[in-house]
Amino acid sequence: MAQLDSASPSEGEGCPFEPGREQIFPSTPEGDELGMRAAMVLAERAQATGDVPIGAVLAVDGRRFDAWNEKEARPDPTAHAEMIAIAAAARALGRWRIGGILYVTKEPCAMCAGAIAAARIERVVFGCHDPKGGAAGSVVDILGSDVVNHRVAVTGGVLADETAEQLRAFFVAKRRLERWSSG
Ligand code: ZN
Repeated sequence: MAQLDSASPSEGEGCPFEPGREQIFPSTPEGDELGMRAAMVLAERAQATGDVPIGAVLAVDGRRFDAWNEKEARPDPTAHAEMIAIAAAARALGRWRIGGILYVTKEPCAMCAGAIAAARIERVVFGCHDPKGGAAGSVVDILGSDVVNHRVAVTGGVLADETAEQLRAFFVAKRRLERWSSG
């Protein structure tokens, strides 16, 4: 069953960033919450350009790569927070097999889940579930699917209420503004 799983995170061995194996956030429930809070702060930056507030932190080799949703700002349909963080890490580290832990305020979509597997991310920690488009189990489970030959550990629902509220507040304000400007 697991014969294809030899392409697992340990392939990062021998990478030039060995001294940086220390973690930005500890792999504990408390550490997951710290990472999520950092991602939530980044999510706020998306709102300045009318982007849905989703933030991501990719912690790898003792470094962190911060990103937030810039779909409207760029505009670019692929400019989700996760995609931007992965691309930035690949550029900086000089490798596509990135590894590390990704913290993101909302369950990844299908596109991002595919990129997460392709980047060999070791673990994803996400905030609220997305019943409409979540690809980490809510609608489809790409990260657990045989379609991808890399297994990503997933921890969902970290600060679920707070991350959901951040999104809800954005959409409430947006609707209010639309009503105001059309009235
Ligand atoms: Zn996405």
